[in-house]
Amino acid sequence: MGYVVGTLKAVKQEDPEVYAAFRAEEKRQRDKLVLIASENYASPAVLAAQGSLMTNKYAEGYPRRRYYGGCQYVDAVEELAIARAKQLFGCEHVNVQPHSGSTANMAAYLAVLKPGDTILGMALSQGGHLTHGSKVNFSGKLFQAFSYGVDRETELIDYDAVQQKAEEVRPRMIVVGASAYSKVIDFPRFQEIAKSVGAYLLVDIAHISGLVATGLHPSPVSHADFVTTTTHKTLRGPRAGMVMCKEEHAKAVDKIIFPGLQGGPLMHVIAAKAVAFKEALAPGFAAYQQRILDNARALADGFTARGYHVVSGGTDTHLFLLNLNSRGVTGKEAEEALDASGIIVNKNAVPYDERPPAVASGIRIGTPIASTRGMGVSEMSQIVAWMDEVLHHPTAKRVQSRIRKEVKALCARFPVFSDS
Ligand code: PLP
Repeated sequence: MGYVVGTLKAVKQEDPEVYAAFRAEEKRQRDKLVLIASENYASPAVLAAQGSLMTNKYAEGYPRRRYYGGCQYVDAVEELAIARAKQLFGCEHVNVQPHSGSTANMAAYLAVLKPGDTILGMALSQGGHLTHGSKVNFSGKLFQAFSYGVDRETELIDYDAVQQKAEEVRPRMIVVGASAYSKVIDFPRFQEIAKSVGAYLLVDIAHISGLVATGLHPSPVSHADFVTTTTHKTLRGPRAGMVMCKEEHAKAVDKIIFPGLQGGPLMHVIAAKAVAFKEALAPGFAAYQQRILDNARALADGFTARGYHVVSGGTDTHLFLLNLNSRGVTGKEAEEALDASGIIVNKNAVPYDERPPAVASGIRIGTPIASTRGMGVSEMSQIVAWMDEVLHHPTAKRVQSRIRKEVKALCARFPVFSDS
């Protein structure tokens, strides 16, 4: 996996400072064990497509309906991306132009809502995403946003409470999906709730889209009016987004993305999406997604066996949260101590967290990158042992430096970048 560093020769000649940062970042990605749930290592073909000369092309509009000449070849890649996305997810319509997951969500909202309308999404503090109605985000500023969360005891989505809240606030749209929720989401139940109050249903599968594409998490496509995703998390494509929808919303979605929200689409990124979707349709991708699941489960089970509080009682996905409240270490301290040990995670609020998000009481752990490197469940038990040791001695520099070397040696056994 990974890019060949030699292809960056032109950057080295033109801009040694940027090149130095590339090399340092390459070393970081190579030598550290990255367990950030929202990240992945894209393939050499995806990276090459994203770094290609299609970046030079303006192509406002849609294939065969552009506002610029010379679009025949970028049309071909956008048509491939569309056809492959439809095959992957079985959706009626897809727009592959959103620059990011946030833009994809903005498009899904504005395709059918007006500013001031009411939305109901999962609270950021309970696992939802900023764009699902947080007050600091456009979604909370533009709309009257209400939120639902998880049950205090089970830490699972409380569907009865969602139904009650929906009846209370009568949203025009219900938003489903999360950045930090580890269990299967019941999409048919959300469809029922949305239907009962006459709301549109938007499901954001940014995190789980690789699992959905391979049938390892139920698909929301037949249940939701709109399904949005990023393409760079479990799906392992370029950093970007897309919107899927029912045919009846196709025109509104296309119109709001261009000319409503964006100008020229990033054709090099769309080319990279086409490549990534081809990779995701290939037989090995399902095995990769299964390894992601097996590894996440092995890590969660390992922490549970050592007495840790795994939020929601385990994982059905690529990620889970560890609540560190009983461990005498904050999320921030854990993130820093693990980083010093060569293990990269992010601090994360846990449900009903009393600490501010910049400190947080938990960490989020995910397996897309470790699985891309080819690691399996036996490596996971070693990783649990290292993390447990660091979390027991969060200020012990000698422990950190020993484990950092051991982590580097493990990473060297599962290489990602070649140096020629
Ligand atoms: N939706 C969810 C559930 C996410 O987790 C994220 C990113 O973390 C996004 C949307 C936003 O994606 P982007 O960072 O590409 O704007």
